[in-house]
Amino acid sequence: MLLALASGCAGTKHTQRIALPSNNLLKAEQLQVVSDFKIERDHPVITDLKRLRMQISETLDLPLGTKPVVVYLFANELEYTQYLQTKFPNFPSRRAYFMETYGKDLSVYTWWGDQIQEDLRHEYTHGLLHAGLTNVPLWLDEGLAEYFEVGGALPGQVNNEHAQLLVVGVQRGAWRPDLARLEYLEQVQDMKRADYREAWAWVHFMLHSSPDTRMVLLEYLQELRTNPEPGPLRERLVAVSPDIDQRLLVYVAGLNGPGHWNASFLGSGNSTVRAVSH
Ligand SMILES: [Zn+2]
Repeated sequence: MLLALASGCAGTKHTQRIALPSNNLLKAEQLQVVSDFKIERDHPVITDLKRLRMQISETLDLPLGTKPVVVYLFANELEYTQYLQTKFPNFPSRRAYFMETYGKDLSVYTWWGDQIQEDLRHEYTHGLLHAGLTNVPLWLDEGLAEYFEVGGALPGQVNNEHAQLLVVGVQRGAWRPDLARLEYLEQVQDMKRADYREAWAWVHFMLHSSPDTRMVLLEYLQELRTNPEPGPLRERLVAVSPDIDQRLLVYVAGLNGPGHWNASFLGSGNSTVRAVSH
């Protein structure tokens, strides 16, 4: 589906105009923020996104890119919702969307609210990944976005909500990892909240549990720079560790230990869409 993303007006029962923000453009490396209100270049949210770009490059061993990621930042939820409902009436209600059109433009749509930093970190991660890779498998796209949306001086802080629910699921015997199923999902609509949680867990596990799992992920990402169809990642994990599911379970159970918890519940309810994606 080609998404025609043009500003314009449409009939509405409300008096607000239905248009993209357009008055201000802030450029910071690959980040381009278009808004109708002024944002200072040194605003903490912008500074944080610049640092995030460096963190993603360093953590995933990916080169810094140049392709712009355009963030259409609405001033409030009403203007954002009216625009999305008019232009993309079939999209479910979400706080933010990332879209990659067939022209390969990378766009983020969201509004300035209490969770703007977390939302922008999540969506900008999508944008940076799509700017540098030929393809990003859905589950991995969301797992990495969930991983990097949690702020902090260093990446990899635990998403408390995800961790708590995973631990409870393991303790009750109600949840078991199934990466093969996750890798099968292709539509954003197919990914439920529990799938985001498991995708986050696999990414966190691969990056932090051992050098061999970390290397599997980094090599897979390197391959995605040139090969859009590298095949299942799970098979590579099993090749280095046949008991990979058990290792993940043990890792997830350990997320409940001291020093792993953040002070707040970041990351709850976040959603996005990609070309149509979240
Ligand atoms: Zn997402």
